[in-house]
Amino acid sequence: MQSSSYSRSGSRRAPSSDPSSYASKRSYGGYAKGRPSGKGAGSRGSALSRFKQAINPSLFIQEAKLEETSVYTPVNSFSSFPLFRKISENIAATGFQQPTPIQDQTIPLVLQGKDVVGIANTGTGKTAAFAIPMIQDLVTHMDHRAIIMAPTRELAEQIMEECFRFGKGCGLRSALLIGGASMNLQKRDLRYNPRVVVGTPGRIKDHVRQGTLPLQLFNFVVLDEVDRMLDMGFIDDIGDILSKVSKERQSLFFSATMEPRISKLIEQFSKDPVTISTKKHATVDSISQDVVYYSGRNEKIEMLHDLLIKGTCAKTIIFDDTKRAVESLGRELHARGFKVDEIHGDKSQAQRSRAIRRLKSAEIDILVATDVAARGIDVSDITHVINYSTPNSYNDYVHRIGRTGRAGKVGYALTFVAR
Ligand code: ADP
Ligand code: MG
Repeated sequence: MQSSSYSRSGSRRAPSSDPSSYASKRSYGGYAKGRPSGKGAGSRGSALSRFKQAINPSLFIQEAKLEETSVYTPVNSFSSFPLFRKISENIAATGFQQPTPIQDQTIPLVLQGKDVVGIANTGTGKTAAFAIPMIQDLVTHMDHRAIIMAPTRELAEQIMEECFRFGKGCGLRSALLIGGASMNLQKRDLRYNPRVVVGTPGRIKDHVRQGTLPLQLFNFVVLDEVDRMLDMGFIDDIGDILSKVSKERQSLFFSATMEPRISKLIEQFSKDPVTISTKKHATVDSISQDVVYYSGRNEKIEMLHDLLIKGTCAKTIIFDDTKRAVESLGRELHARGFKVDEIHGDKSQAQRSRAIRRLKSAEIDILVATDVAARGIDVSDITHVINYSTPNSYNDYVHRIGRTGRAGKVGYALTFVAR
């Protein structure tokens, strides 16, 4: 596979100070540019936001326990897995030292051809857990074809990137089927009979409908972030797609959470699956979580500003709940001199990808996002996730803050709560 052009930049500043001080201390450092306008960036006091405050803020407070996460001793090493030499070389080139728990426990099973359900917190390496054994399967079975479904375009792109990393030099053609990109170019890619297809359920269905994607030829299926796909209403599309892929297949399901809807789907579409769960807590231990109390919209934006100018805040994702709120907060921060970009559902795919690239390359320090646009974003060195609006559910909260504290690094999650 062709290698990707993305680079993962290193963190420029590491978080160091005690995050619990955020809630109380206000250290004005002066604005980079002008005084705040305050317009549009404060709380909107709607019925929705009053309802949302029903989530008990104590759920947003938890100290990081990094030691606990680093004591896992894997049974396997990457070199002990029976992999094609090229794949082992590609893994070595990524710099991964040892498998994460989910990788350690699922890769052997997938290599044995079993259907596997992998439940693990966000940021624990689920992508490589399926991508590595999948590529091994494809290079050893010339008649195998894999299809991977993911909830969002960004996530599908990232999975494709990871497949490029591990499948480099293995001669596997691929196609990325996501919305917001040219149908015709995707059709062209599909005419070359790709061995790896990554896509979102909606666009995959479009191709099936137009007869450009022969699902019956696919015998290796991965559903990534199953919980998010169901939250986003993809259940029927997924069922439709799974009923059309080859009956003689291996199926993998990955999710951060397990719930009855997911087990029902798995039961319907898998054969004697083995479930591996490496989850001890709802959120990874490496995220330090705290709340920031504010009263009134002016104080809210000022407190945000104070947080952002602290040295500990190197790379930040700020969540707000609507496209309009994200736009206006992005503008406000830009006017204050911050290097910021926004992603939400009304942005084109090119704009969304560009914003993520700019964050990765540290061209910007802050990305303001809605929940949907931010799902599955993996920028490895995010130091802070700030919930400028309270998430709609605890599940949304867990996914938002999962953008930080990845791969065993400490991350900070701060949630604004009205006093
Ligand atoms: P998840 O899908 O569980 O949310 P990802 O697959 O996106 O997690 O991985 C999170 C981050 O961890 C990525 O930046 C990835 O490159 C990194 N990572 C994955 N596996 C390892 C490993 N074995 N060693 C070090 N870093 C890893
Ligand atoms: Mg993932």
